[in-house]
Amino acid sequence: MAEQLEPPSTSGKWANGYRNRWKWDKMAWGTHCVDCYPTNCSYRVYVRDGRVVREEPAGNFQTIEEGVPDMNPSGCQKGAQWSQMLYGKERVLHPLRRTGERGEGRFERVSWDDALTEIADAMLDAIQESGPESIVRIGTPGEGGTQTMILAGAVFNRLGTTSTDVQSEINDFNPGLYITFGRFDPAHSNDDWFHSEQLLIWANNPAYGSIPWYHFIAEARYNGTEVVTIAPDYSPSAIHGDYFVPVRIGSDAALALSMCRVIVDEGLVDEAFVREQTDLGLLVRADNGRFLRQCDLQQDGAADVFHIFDTRSGEIVEAPRTLDLGELEPALEGSYRARLSDGAEVEVVPVFALLQRRLADYAPEDASASCGVHPDTIRDLARKAARRRTMILLGWTLGKSYHGDLMERAICLLLALTGNWGKHGAGVRSWAVGMFDGQYLLGSKPRAGQEATKEVFEGQNAMLKALLSQDPTLTEEIVVAEMSYQGAFPLRMTPSAFFWYHHCGYGEVWNKAGWNDPSMKRSFDDYVKEAVEKGWWKGMDRPSQDAPPRVLFEIGGNLLRRQRGGQRMLLEHLWPKLRLIVSMDWRMSTTGLHSDILLPAPQPPGYPHFPYTTPDVMNLTLSDRAVEPAGESRSEWQFSLMLAKKLAERGKARGLVEMVNDMGETVRLDTLYEDISFDGALADDDAVFDEMIRDSALMGTIPPDTTLETLREKGSVRFTGLGRSPMALAQASDIYPNETHTPFRWQTEKKEPFPTLTRRAQFYIDHEWFLEAGEELPAHKEAPAQGGDHPFQITSGHPRWSVNSMCSTSRIIMGTTRGEPVIHINDRDAAARGIENGQEIRVFNDVAEVIVQARVTPAAQPGQLIMYNGFEPYQFKGWQDFSNLEPGMVKWLHFAGGYGHLRYRALHWQPIPIDRGVRADVAPAGSEPA
Ligand code: SF4
Repeated sequence: MAEQLEPPSTSGKWANGYRNRWKWDKMAWGTHCVDCYPTNCSYRVYVRDGRVVREEPAGNFQTIEEGVPDMNPSGCQKGAQWSQMLYGKERVLHPLRRTGERGEGRFERVSWDDALTEIADAMLDAIQESGPESIVRIGTPGEGGTQTMILAGAVFNRLGTTSTDVQSEINDFNPGLYITFGRFDPAHSNDDWFHSEQLLIWANNPAYGSIPWYHFIAEARYNGTEVVTIAPDYSPSAIHGDYFVPVRIGSDAALALSMCRVIVDEGLVDEAFVREQTDLGLLVRADNGRFLRQCDLQQDGAADVFHIFDTRSGEIVEAPRTLDLGELEPALEGSYRARLSDGAEVEVVPVFALLQRRLADYAPEDASASCGVHPDTIRDLARKAARRRTMILLGWTLGKSYHGDLMERAICLLLALTGNWGKHGAGVRSWAVGMFDGQYLLGSKPRAGQEATKEVFEGQNAMLKALLSQDPTLTEEIVVAEMSYQGAFPLRMTPSAFFWYHHCGYGEVWNKAGWNDPSMKRSFDDYVKEAVEKGWWKGMDRPSQDAPPRVLFEIGGNLLRRQRGGQRMLLEHLWPKLRLIVSMDWRMSTTGLHSDILLPAPQPPGYPHFPYTTPDVMNLTLSDRAVEPAGESRSEWQFSLMLAKKLAERGKARGLVEMVNDMGETVRLDTLYEDISFDGALADDDAVFDEMIRDSALMGTIPPDTTLETLREKGSVRFTGLGRSPMALAQASDIYPNETHTPFRWQTEKKEPFPTLTRRAQFYIDHEWFLEAGEELPAHKEAPAQGGDHPFQITSGHPRWSVNSMCSTSRIIMGTTRGEPVIHINDRDAAARGIENGQEIRVFNDVAEVIVQARVTPAAQPGQLIMYNGFEPYQFKGWQDFSNLEPGMVKWLHFAGGYGHLRYRALHWQPIPIDRGVRADVAPAGSEPA
């Protein structure tokens, strides 16, 4: 019998030390209001002697559906060490003013009053000399999610400064989803993954990017779900799957279209779903490739009414404007004759028939040569997708690729042919924010209090009702989207493309013929010119060529890390034009180092706050004030109010008490503070958040009677309704208290239309530019050689060890990684170039060179260089990071407009920067270029 060991003594010094670590004076609810989408992990934050000593996952999310795992515990290693970063040496604790050259790193401490005086004077100079549009505020999800945008933007929105669109800055857009669905943002609640029978992790790495929610994938496998990872590299997500399908970089469209071909050839198409949900039954004219429209058949007919050939009546009839086909059965094949209003007869064919012709190029054996996946694997995957409830966990990598739109359109087609959306466990996943409607309403309210909320809400309801009554086929989503196209939504943004084109030196880059696709028939400039002349981007060309940017604000973001083209473009072209650069941040970023004035932000838990409010987590999660704000830091809301007061004071001193903003409205400067704070009623951080919570409760998106006080008891509440923000309405599903959330159920269950030109999931785009490019239907195209003719392609993704670059200088994180930037390179590629693991190498192309440590791994595909995005440029030699290697291309077709849903609205359709698939080469550091 084994000897029984005595339990260790718990009275010694070591035990007291351990007990001591667990003592606290108070606990507050917390989460991390940072861009770690979908964020919202609920934490308990423990405080002793006024300092945060520990955080731990709270485990307080409720069970939603019997038999489905709950969301507890939610957390990650960045969250676990977050409180340590609050006391890191890179914290900015006081307002600072540059004393040396920009980027030299020399600052002096100044008072808030001095800093604000300098800022207000520069803004007033810019307003008086060039207009408010010459003040540029960079759009960023920042440290505080949408609350930062709303609260920090209060002054800027009112003055009509240029606020660049967050989507164009970060490009977490899914252009192919948007082209197909008129929305890019389906976001299942994470627990809905559990219902899937086939999970395709496609161009995504949730084991890095979605640590708190990855358990649903593992639990789904226990439930019988098959998990397949489709990516070029054998990622940490691939390790836990049933299959790994290595696809050649940039060839995902070839793979998806080949799967579609198998499904069509083998008679596996869900025809009823295709007829009802998609445009594949609409007729297209053979003579010009355009949809057969009502205006083709009748004088004065509409351009947005389309046609099908009804197999039951044997006639060409108008397609309903909803998805309710009634007794109609659109033909999917065949060829028909239509008589036009001028008497001519033309041949018309269903889109599905055109698709069959397109798919002729994608037999598995042919596609295999493009995508590198064995034909048998293609067939196997296609059959499974057709027979199983399939969900695609799509990341935002494809949208950052040159032909990412085509790849995503092909993936959507796969889901359409197999009937895979609008039911639990099926569909495609992106991201969305919304439902916390009180925050969006704030800028529209005439005064504080819920009576004012009711008035605004009732006014909105009446307007909505009137619009819906004019056309019974309209939906609330379509009306709200249309208001958003008209610029009515309170997030007033400007696409960044024109700013980059006119003021940041990108015009020359985008015109490089070899870096664009060969199907671009004219010069890039020609397309931009045509787009502007046709008025597709009217009012979006800001700051205009004659009003160069003068004052730049980066609040909570890190422009010089994130910008494709990096410091190479911005410091050379933009910085010299700027009279004042202001950063507001809680830590010293590379952008802060290159700024003129640095303002200290507190970062929760220094004040009450909320992260993004997402369908993925489906909870409003409080991050409360656990400690006093560090140093002299002030919340974004307090910054807005102080700036408003200072603008009034400095304006009065120069006799400027009012101005005209970009909307032609007269804005009073002398009462700016009173107007924004509702005469001081919401001047306090607690007051403004309480107002937003109460308003959201009133509008039905959270339980009635929820207040800041009740949230302080519970920590989080589940959303009860979608509310009225566009991205929430785009979920197109009711929220049920006892069901996981699945987008697009309004389409499959209520037959409501999609917000596209054809009111269907649209795979055929008959815009003249798309026809010219041969992209009217999804296709595979090779990516052009952006950055020059070099053998490697750079890919990227969210890192495991940092939220963007925020945690990369944390001592804890540095102690658990190599502590400096690395690039992943395939072992055989490394050997061929004489590169060893851990060695410093040169990564170079036609635009830049970067020195970095090699991480040699067989997990990287040959020809691939993986650079996760989690480092500060100042961690690289000479501060030259990987964004410098990116030319910063955009695809010319994304300047297209004037076509149904292909029009600009905030966070949606616009030119977006590309950084995947950039070409480069490598060599040991110190070697000469080959
Ligand atoms: Fe969750 Fe983000 Fe915090 Fe990690 S950093 S624990 S993912 S909220």
